Amino acid sequence: MNTDCLFCKILAGQIPANRVYEDELCIAFPDINPQAPTHLLIIPKEHLTSMAKALADHEPLLGHLMGTAADLARSNKLDKGYRVVVNTAEDGGQTVHHLHLHLLGGRQMKWPPG
Ligand code: 5GP
Ligand code: ZN
Repeated sequence: MNTDCLFCKILAGQIPANRVYEDELCIAFPDINPQAPTHLLIIPKEHLTSMAKALADHEPLLGHLMGTAADLARSNKLDKGYRVVVNTAEDGGQTVHHLHLHLLGGRQMKWPPG
């Protein structure tokens, strides 16, 4: 755990979040400021600052997070499609420095993103 990290505090139960999914490697909970009718955050239990810090050893974890996003999209009935976003570091617009996937769905997405 990184004591300065918001998502580590959520993992530790120090900040409340509605865990809609949990397994041995990750949890998922709704974003506090949703940008779509469905907006979940999927975060690893391991503190990893960003995608930019991911190494070959993290490949199974990254695959698991993507697979979990697909499962959650199915269980949330996002049958028309959805978007998975990983904002990474400064230019990527990352604001919480604990790797996370955004699962967004329930509306038509636009391209390019801002
Ligand atoms: P980023 O901008 O780093 O890709 O995404 C961070 C996300 O975390 C933002 O969409 C923001 O709304 C969300 N967030 C920030 N603080 C909290 C919180 O305390 N609880 C929850 N559930 N989401 C949060
Ligand atoms: Zn963390």
